[in-house]
Amino acid sequence: MARETISNPTPYMPADLAELAPDGVTQPYWDHCNQGELRIQRCKACGTFRHPPLPGCPDCGARDDEWVRSEGKGRVFSFSGVYHPVLPNVAEYVPYNVVLVQLADAGGVRIISNLLGVALGDIEIGMPVELVWERVSPDVNLPRFRPAGG
Ligand SMILES: [Zn+2]
Repeated sequence: MARETISNPTPYMPADLAELAPDGVTQPYWDHCNQGELRIQRCKACGTFRHPPLPGCPDCGARDDEWVRSEGKGRVFSFSGVYHPVLPNVAEYVPYNVVLVQLADAGGVRIISNLLGVALGDIEIGMPVELVWERVSPDVNLPRFRPAGG
């Protein structure tokens, strides 16, 4: 069954904000994102998910891992509102939110992102959310979220 790819036409943040500097450990994560797949690293020895990517398992020390696809559904674990533009190029974007989403299918892994399509004052802890892809350049496709069912 083909999976729906959701794309957001208007970047939530300035496109030039997301200059990635992947290394050998994080490159697979961003490669999967660029292909429109949210994949989370999982230890092949003990099955523990981890994010952000690490060279070894913090639970058992094994270095063999695999990249498991997430459906991108989860809940807001925590969030914050940013009102002061620390960087000049985000001055026109405040206030914006930063959310910590706990994925439903990745062993409790949490991912930092932004929640689209909802006013800052309407975000609630526990709110169900789903993945939205935001392509900001040919090489950068960012996982963002929106309220589930939106
Ligand atoms: Zn492990």
